[in-house]
Formats: sequence, C-alpha cells, structure tokens
Amino acid sequence: MKKVTILLPAYNEEASMPLIEQCMAQVLEQNPGYEWEFLLVNDGSTDNTLQHMLRLHESDPRFCCLDLSRNYGKEIAMMAGFDFATGDAVIIMDADMQHPVDVIPQMLQLWEQGYDDVYAQRRTSRESWFKRKTSQWYYRLLQRLTRIPIQRDTGDFRLLDRSCIEALKQMREVERNTKGMYSWIGFRKVGITYDQQQRRAGTSKWSPWALLDLAINGIASYTTAPLRLASFLGVLVSVVAFCYLLYILLVTTFFGEPVQGYPTIMVTMLFLGGVQLLGLGIVGEYLGRVFNEVKRRPGYFVGSYNGKRPSVQPGAGSNAQPQ
Ligand code: UDP
Ligand code: MG
Repeated sequence: MKKVTILLPAYNEEASMPLIEQCMAQVLEQNPGYEWEFLLVNDGSTDNTLQHMLRLHESDPRFCCLDLSRNYGKEIAMMAGFDFATGDAVIIMDADMQHPVDVIPQMLQLWEQGYDDVYAQRRTSRESWFKRKTSQWYYRLLQRLTRIPIQRDTGDFRLLDRSCIEALKQMREVERNTKGMYSWIGFRKVGITYDQQQRRAGTSKWSPWALLDLAINGIASYTTAPLRLASFLGVLVSVVAFCYLLYILLVTTFFGEPVQGYPTIMVTMLFLGGVQLLGLGIVGEYLGRVFNEVKRRPGYFVGSYNGKRPSVQPGAGSNAQPQ
C-alpha cells in the first residue's frame, strides 16, 4: 500500500487542532486505499499547539509531531517537514484548514496517473480586494522577470511525489521561497482548482510587512533580473547626463551663461542620489542573501520528534532524517 504524508506546518494553531483532527478523520474515511501519515510541524508556537499535537499522537500514532526549536517561519517549517516526511507522496496543507480536504481524492487520482506535482489553484479567494489584487500583480511581475513558468493563484497546497521531495531536500538554502522552487525543479505538473475556505479558528500570521518581505524574497531568491535593472538604470542615467553635459558646454561656449542653476543642481543631485541608493539597495538585497548562505548554518534545529529529543542534529548541507 502506498503511503501518503500530509504535512501541516503550524504556528499558534491550538484553536485549529479540533478541526485538524476532524478533517484528517475525513481523509482517512474518504481514501481507504492508502497508508496515511499526518506530520504536524510545530513552528515554535507560543501557545499550547505542541501539547495538542502530542495528545493527537498519543491517541493515534499516524499523527507525528515535529517540534522545531523556535519559530522559523512557514518556509523553513516546510523544509523540516520534507526532511521528516516518509510518504511516497506529500500533501502540504495549512494547519488552519483553509485548504479543503475534499480535493485530496482528485489529487491522488492524478498522482496515480503519473503526475509528480498536483498543485491546487484558488478559484475563489475570500481574501480582501487589496490582498487579491496585490498577489495578482506580484505573480505577473515575477513571471515577467523569469522564463521559468510560474503557476498563478497557487499557494503551497499541493501533492508532491517522492521524486519532487527528494529534489527539494537537496535545496538547502535558508532564504527560501518554496513557491519558486516548485517551478524550478520541474517534473510533471498539473493543476486542479479549489475554493479557498475562510479561516475558521485562530488568526492569520501574516502582517503586511511579512508579506512584503515574502514578496521581495520571492523575487530576489528566484531571479537576478533586478541587478540587471540597476545596471540598465546606470547606463540610462549616464547617457542622459552626457547629453545634458554637451548641451551645457555648447550653451556656455556660444551664448555665455550667468551663474544660475540652483534648481537644476538640486534636482540632479537628488535624482542621482536616489538612483544610486536604489542600485545599492538592490545589490544589498543579494549581498545579504549571500551573507546568510555562506554561513552554511543548518536551516533549523529540532526540539523533539514525537515528544523525543533528538540525539544528533542535522548538519549543514546534509539531509536530516527522523531518528
Ligand atoms: N505558519 C507557520 N509559521 C509561521 C507562520 C505561519 O508554520 O511563522 C503556518 C500557519 O500555522 C498556517 C500556514 O503557515 O498553517 C499559513 O499561515 P496563515 O493561515 O496565517 O496565512 P494566510 O492563510 O493568512 O495566508
Ligand atoms: Mg490561513
């Protein structure tokens, strides 16, 4: 019997735990032909999420709980989940159960047909107009910047075959944008659509700042196009400046010029200063990433797995395995 892991990264989701239990029971009932593993990753919650997880594990060992040593963010929590998942396929879902379990049979069916990455596209998003529009523009921008096709309106809700998981496990960068990685690794992809549910318990963990950070991270970890933009801007400004220089030279030579030009100098200085800072900022974004990667730290530390403390911690670059 094939084994499927459902990976649930959770941060302060104690209020969603009863819902998770209920939904997983539904999964078991709807898909009897598979062996199931429910991998709950506690991403350093400050509430009683871990206690609830351990209680679930006690009542049913198919629930596994991986407790990270602190809050690392969803991307790293998923990376840890990939390391510890043992299924032939992994389905990633949000712990707030905004992703409906009803589409899982369809995902499994497509997986059986030979697809490696069955991603779920939001048909109706219940998010605010602003959040919907910004995410739409963002995908469009990202797609312009790169030649690798990016799946629109797609989050982390998807089924990944073991081959994809093994590929993702080899990508050990800590500045992660998993969404870009799914596209980057390739493999046979197919999309299905689903209706996003409203959050029924707990609160959203994304502040606007965190979303902006995610957005910048997405571009910077996916493409170096902004660096090209910086060089391009540099050339453009130089050409304009050179033309202006010729103009001033000619005007002063032939017509003479009384000392003037305070506004021109101010405007030019401010503009050039702005362009330079922009260029520096772009370089800085990439340099910061290089800095974080060259330290070669492990992406995360494990507090406990199923309540047991690990005897060894995964080393940098290695693929951690459950003990
Ligand atoms: N999450 C996490 N670590 C974090 C923030 C969020 O593991 O630092 C998890 C969270 O528990 C949830 C999923 O990521 O399962 C999506 O988060 P949320 O529902 O807050 O995001 P939204 O649906 O509002 O975009
Ligand atoms: Mg949510």
